[in-house]
Amino acid sequence: MLIDFLNKNQISYTENEPLAPLTTFRIGGKADIVIRPNSEGKAAALIRFLNDTGRKYFLMGRGSDLLFSDRDFKIPIIKTDLLDEMRREGDLFTFGAGVKLSAAALFAAENGYSGFEFAHGIPGSIGGAVYMNAGAYDGMIADVCVSTTYVNAGGSVETIMGEAHKFGYRHSVFMHRENDLILSTTIQLVPGDKQAIHAKMEDLMRRRREKQPLNYPSAGSTFKRPEGAYASKLIDEAGLKGYRIGGAEVSEKHAGFIINKDNASFDDVKNLIGFVRDTVKEKTGYTLECEVRIIEQE
Ligand SMILES: Cc1cc2nc3c(=O)[nH]c(=O)nc-3n(C[C@H](O)[C@H](O)[C@H](O)COP(=O)(O)OP(=O)(O)OC[C@H]3O[C@@H](n4cnc5c(N)ncnc54)[C@H](O)[C@@H]3O)c2cc1C
Repeated sequence: MLIDFLNKNQISYTENEPLAPLTTFRIGGKADIVIRPNSEGKAAALIRFLNDTGRKYFLMGRGSDLLFSDRDFKIPIIKTDLLDEMRREGDLFTFGAGVKLSAAALFAAENGYSGFEFAHGIPGSIGGAVYMNAGAYDGMIADVCVSTTYVNAGGSVETIMGEAHKFGYRHSVFMHRENDLILSTTIQLVPGDKQAIHAKMEDLMRRRREKQPLNYPSAGSTFKRPEGAYASKLIDEAGLKGYRIGGAEVSEKHAGFIINKDNASFDDVKNLIGFVRDTVKEKTGYTLECEVRIIEQE
């Protein structure tokens, strides 16, 4: 029935697609089906169809905050890559959910607008970034986001503005609405000097390369920053730098990252996350909350 609907509506999909190449952790089994709508209308029709037929689905951007199980994933995945429109009206920039943050930041820079440099080195999509209020260095999505257009579970397209996003540290209202698909977001930037904007992005990227283990697959910071402390410092103090379970390792370079050092399995990473959390609790008293989203197959 789903396949008929997709064919009839000319929505592209692939069956039995390996998930590992779709995630920055490079871990995961095969997805039964990955669906890539290429317009807001098709995305809305798809969400309506899935809800009307009582089917669950999973929303995915660039897979840079996800740890998938090695088992096959039966629930349809809706991947936003093809929602990739970028446009500017004055100081307002609207980006489709699937636009890479690096591409959005470069588009703003090329237009001579500043305020989105912080996003350049984050390997996610606009949709994923709004979902969790991504941020780095001196900025976060909440600082620039004006409005977000999304499809709700009923298939209706709606827009929310400003405070309705309920942004907080690595939090937005969309974390409580797992069936709502973010379609696009509008951000407001300020005019700036093109050269200075590019220089800032390059500087932030250099700092990332210096501090982060970017030569190994990972999903970035494994844990959220606990109040009053830094996760990486706590993990380091607990003596866990370089600690390994199977192919997963607490990075020597940055203890906040768990890396896929050598063909790590889902269990390797999950067990290491649990071990780090337990050890840090025991040695420092802090409870670490996972930032990476762990997706176990039912
Ligand atoms: C090397 C590295 C460095 C990183 N550095 C940072 C950093 O500095 N700051 C930071 O904040 N993060 C960082 N991250 C984490 C990650 O890049 C961000 O969390 C990013 O915002 C995730 O976007 P994504 O498109 O990859 O989302 P995904 O990983 O695909 O999905 C993450 C969540 O968002 C939801 N989602 C995705 N798209 C949509 C949509 N269109 N509508 C509704 N829900 C959606 C998914 O369902 C899922 O729950 C880093 C990751 C890596 C690998």
